[in-house]
Formats: sequence, C-alpha cells, structure tokens
Amino acid sequence: MQHNLSIPDQIVSSYVGNQWIKPDSSARLIHSAVTGEQIACAGNNGIDTQAMLSYARQQGGPALRELTFHDRAKKLKQLALYIGEHTEYLTQLAFHSGATAADSKIDIDGGIATVFVYASKGRRELPDDTLCTDGEVEQLSRHGSFVGQHVYTSKPGVAVHINAFNFPVWGMLEKLAPTLLAGMPAIIKPATSTSYITEACFKLMIDSGIFPPGSFQLICGSTGNLLNELESQDIVTFTGSANTANTLRSNANLLQNAVPFNAEQDSLNATLLGPDISHGSQDFDLFINEIFSEMTVKAGQKCTAIRRILVPQSLIDNTTQALNAKLAQLVIGDPSLSQTTMGALVSADQKQSVVAACEQISADATLVFGSTDLNIEGENINHSAFITPKLYCCNDPDNTATVHCVEAFGPVSTLMPYKNLNHACELLNRGQGSLVASVVTQDGSIAREVTSRSAAWHGRLYFNNLHSAKEATGHGAPLPHMVHGGPGRAGGGEELGGIRAVKHYMQRTAIQGSPDLLQSVTGSYVVGAKETTKTEHPFRKSFNALEIGETLHTDGREITLENIEHFAHFTGDTFYAHMDEDAAAANPFFPGRVAHGYLLLSFAAGLFVDPAPGPVLANTGLTDLSFQKPVSPGDSIKVSLTVQHKKKRNDDYGEVRWHVKLLNQHDEQVASYQLHTMNAL
Ligand code: NAP
Repeated sequence: MQHNLSIPDQIVSSYVGNQWIKPDSSARLIHSAVTGEQIACAGNNGIDTQAMLSYARQQGGPALRELTFHDRAKKLKQLALYIGEHTEYLTQLAFHSGATAADSKIDIDGGIATVFVYASKGRRELPDDTLCTDGEVEQLSRHGSFVGQHVYTSKPGVAVHINAFNFPVWGMLEKLAPTLLAGMPAIIKPATSTSYITEACFKLMIDSGIFPPGSFQLICGSTGNLLNELESQDIVTFTGSANTANTLRSNANLLQNAVPFNAEQDSLNATLLGPDISHGSQDFDLFINEIFSEMTVKAGQKCTAIRRILVPQSLIDNTTQALNAKLAQLVIGDPSLSQTTMGALVSADQKQSVVAACEQISADATLVFGSTDLNIEGENINHSAFITPKLYCCNDPDNTATVHCVEAFGPVSTLMPYKNLNHACELLNRGQGSLVASVVTQDGSIAREVTSRSAAWHGRLYFNNLHSAKEATGHGAPLPHMVHGGPGRAGGGEELGGIRAVKHYMQRTAIQGSPDLLQSVTGSYVVGAKETTKTEHPFRKSFNALEIGETLHTDGREITLENIEHFAHFTGDTFYAHMDEDAAAANPFFPGRVAHGYLLLSFAAGLFVDPAPGPVLANTGLTDLSFQKPVSPGDSIKVSLTVQHKKKRNDDYGEVRWHVKLLNQHDEQVASYQLHTMNAL
C-alpha cells in the first residue's frame, strides 16, 4: 500500500514515581496498522508496582486532597488547554494506529472536551470545599434535634485505570478527569497496541507540571503484580473485552478487599428503524447515514458502534440496497490522506479476531456487502490491518444466538427484520445488556414503548429524527454529561454522567447528629442549628464576611384587603381565591379570600431588603418555594432570612443561598424558599 507516513521508532516508557522507566527485554513489539513496520515497543517486567502505589498514596493523594474541588477544576481546565495545543502532534502519531484525522478528532478532541466539561461542572456544581453533600438533610427525630445528611469525601487510595486500545487519549482522559476532580490519584494502564499515543499525551501532562507529583503515573505493558497489591480504598476501572473483565474482576485480592471494580466491556449495540418511518423519507436517510458512520468511523472499533440493525420486515431489501450504496463510496487507505474515509484496524492481530468473529456470524447470516476476501488490493497482508466493511443479513434473528452475542470489533454489522414493535424490543434486548440502542422515530408513543420495554437492557437510549438530527451528537458518542456504561454483557458499570462519575471515586457516608454538628461538618445551614443575629444588616456585608447561620428577623407587616385588590388589579392576577369571597370559601384550601402567594413574596422582599447599593449584586433566583398556610386579610407576616450556603464563583463574587421563612402573627410558618443572590467578595 502507498503511504505517506514517517516511521517513528518509539520506546514507550512507563512513568513510575517521578521517573521514566524504559522497556526491558520483555517488551512487546508494536507494528504500524498501515505499513506493518515495527514502530514501537512497550513493557517492562521489572516495574515496582508497590512503589507506584506508595507514591500515589503518600504524595499524589494528599496533595490532591489539599485542594478544593474548585482548585482541581481550575487545574483540569489548564490541562485541557495545554493538551489542546498539541493535538496535531498526537494526530500524526495516531495515523499509525489506522485512525484518520477525523477518527482522532473523536479520540483526542473528544478527550480534551471531556476534561473541559469536568472543569466547568466542577466549578458550577461542586462546592469550593473538599467534601460535598448528597441529597437533603433528613429529619430523624420528632423535634429536630437529631438529623442526618449524606456526605462524600475523597478516598485515600489509588484509582487504577485499565483502558482499551481504541481510544488511547479519550479513554485515559474520560476516566482521569473525574478521578482528579474527586481528589484521587491514578495509575493509568493503556492497551499496549496504542500505548505510544497514550504515552505521548501523558508526557504532555507531566511536562505541563499542572497537577502535583504523584497525581498520575503510567504503566505501559504488563501490570505485573499491581492488582494483587490493591487495598480497600483503591478502585479499578476497566475498559476492554468481556473476557479480560471476567478474569480481572475475579482476582482474589480484589474480592478479598472488596475493591470496587467498574467494567465497561463489549456490547452488541443495536439501532431500530421505527415502524412509522417509510422508505425514501428523510428520516430513513438519516437512519442509513447513522449506520454508515457507526460502521466506518474508527473502522468500526468503537464499543458503542452499531452491530445489529433492526428494520421492519417490509423494508429489509430497501435498507440493504441503501447501505450497500453508501458503503460502496468508502475510500479505504492511508489514514493520513485527506481522501481516505476509512483507515485500518489497529493491528494484524485485531484483524485476525475480526475475521474469526465474521466466520462465526456467517454461520447464521448472509453476507450482503463486502468481499469474503478481507484484504484490500496491494496491502502488505502480513502485518497491516486494512479490512473492507462487511454487512450481514440474518433473516431469522429469533433462532440464532450468534448475531446477538458475537462482537466483530471492526466495520461489521448485521441486518435483521422485525415483525412488530414488541418483537423489535425483544430483539433489542437479546444483546443481554448493551451500552446504547438507537431508534429513529417521529412517534412519541413508540419512544415511550421502547423506553418501557428496553431501557433496562441498555445504558443509553438515543432517539433521533429530523427535528433533532442537526444537533444530535450521534448514536456512538458517549457524552461527559450522560452516563456511559450498560448492564449485563456491557459490564454492569457506569462512567461519566456529569458529577456522578466524580462520586464513583469518593465514599458516601451517612452523617448523623445534632443540627449544629452537621452544620459544622457540611458548612451549610441546617434547620434547627443555632441562628446568630448581628447588628449589621446582612445585605451590607460582603460574601466573605457573611457567616453561615447568620439570621435577620424583620418586623411584621399587615396584609389588608386593599393590598390584595391593589395587587390583583396591578398585576392582572384576579384569580377568584383573591377576589371572590364565596368562591374562595368553597375551595377546600381557603377560609375565604386570601393573599396572593406572589404578593407575600414581594412583601417579604420589601421587609428584608436593604436598598442602598452594596455587596449584593443581583437576585439570581429562588428555589424550593412552598406556600404552607393561607394568609387572610388582617393577618400579618414577618420574615427570617438566614445565610444557608455560600459558593464562591470567581475572584470577584460568589453565590449566597439564603433560607427564607415567612411567619404569620402566630409564628406559624406560611411560606419558605431559598433565595439566591450574587454577592461581591
Ligand atoms: P482487552 O484485550 O480486553 O484489553 C483491555 C485492557 O486490559 C488492555 O489495556 C489490556 O492490556 C488489559 N489487560 C489484558 N489482560 C490483562 C491482565 N491480565 N491484567 C491487567 N490488564 C490486562 O480489550 P481491547 O482489545 O484493548 O479492547 C477492545 C474491546 O474493548 C472490545 O471488545 C470493545 O468492545 C471493548 N471496549 C469497550 C468500551 C466501553 O466503554 N464499554 C470502550 C472501548 C472498548 P494489553 O493491551 O497490554 O493486553
């Protein structure tokens, strides 16, 4: 095959403690997927894994836990920016793994984007603190002197990340970002066949000097005795094949110490053409394009790629023809050339395993696209890893296990007809647990039916049609905001999903005690804790000067019938409960005409606001509003305003959450809410 690539001769080192350790005589040779030539070697059987663990536990972990979530998030952003300056170099290197520039964009830019999302979420959704709460305070006693709250704290162990070959950069970064944000150091073990790309990115991370020493280390090649040395505060997250996952998760030491083991493994993902979609429609074309992309991007080496295509019986021929026409346009070849639309599999070994899987599939399905000769013209068949896409059709998908369980990890997919939606859902679920299933439909009742029948079998359900297509992110794209993982065959694990992933690396503990003690632990006001009153109005105090629990008690204000009528006509809210005595009294909730809830909120603000310009910059909203007791003409209200929680946003201002209670003249609570303001530091 003609190619345009320079041949690196890379010694892929491991990073142990703060030293680079070169490969030894046990190293594995790595060949270019394109040329078949040797490009790198990786592995060293002499790596001192115990020293790595000690370094992470004694240096990296404590240094990370000194930082708050916001400090760590800021470092993640710096890291993403730094790696982002070197994407061209990484892309060039990745050509040898068979990846085109477009493929690498998913891996490299996708990895960087994931770090950015965690940097941003860490700042917005986590406190500027080293622990965070989970859920609300639970009232555990009749009079409120004993309460409970769940909190998350960082685990003082090490996260071991074992990654698959197909995403050498994203695979590392998507696990690392939430781990570091959680305050846990990591040991990264990339798949050997693409470890030269991971190592290059890892070197950038070390060179950047952004994270404290010991925050991350790297093992290229065998993990040696590492898993046998892990302890109960450590965690293993694995991505790869089901076979390897099964071997590793049954490690006696991991079981003995209950070391959490998260597995993301292979999956027979499916796509479903809704029964409402007809041939020739734009939605049908969308369906075809999505399958084409899933089969050919990264030469089909995506854990989320579409392996099974379910279409109504009547459309099986149309779908076959449309996919054949698309696949015939593929340009397979040197991934560094711009005209190439599909590169190679990662290695000759990988090609052999795809060939073997195809042989199994062909026992129960007919090849409808792709030559049975898997080599393409002119290639060096001994080492390089090019392959033509292969589309199969299985006409009797009920009576075969093969097409639902054999994963050909390449550009290979199997069409199968379904009789009705019920049958389609049964087939979707025959994958025994998958990462993602997609459905092209315009019909909300189909989306609901598929969700009810099939969601439990899939980590993600992706509905698409013309309305969402322009902005939809694609069947195969795991997003940092949404969970990635799936039940059963897919490993039963979960990654990403926003801040959920950070919590995988922390321990959730139920804290019980008095409101005062809980308030000291969490740094947030707990109802029932001592309130302090100050002479200075809280609106005159800067963000930093405000104390949690500091409370302003206002004078009372009477609500008159004139107030209610004025408010009704002024706003246009002349709802009968405020204007019609008989109708209001007939309502089960009211004794007669009552004040508007919005009037109470407005009067409350009038009672607690201190009007002059000062540190309060803006009212950004209110949450958890509830009206608990009607307020009748002649009643009066007063307000207590308590500093509940503070979250610094930047060097200029921070958000203050206030607990606001409205009480009537009998000290009965009539309404409560949380007020959010931005206050200057
Ligand atoms: P693999 O052969 O199972 O290897 C996965 C990782 O495990 C590699 O880093 C491998 O290292 C390591 N490993 C193997 N044996 C080990 C042992 N005894 N101790 C410690 N580590 C060990 O999978 P792969 O071929 O790299 O990846 C392809 C598979 O991954 C496909 O089946 C695909 O579906 C799946 N995948 C799943 C996801 C997901 O998110 N669910 C994502 C990507 C890929 P070496 O390379 O050094 O052997």
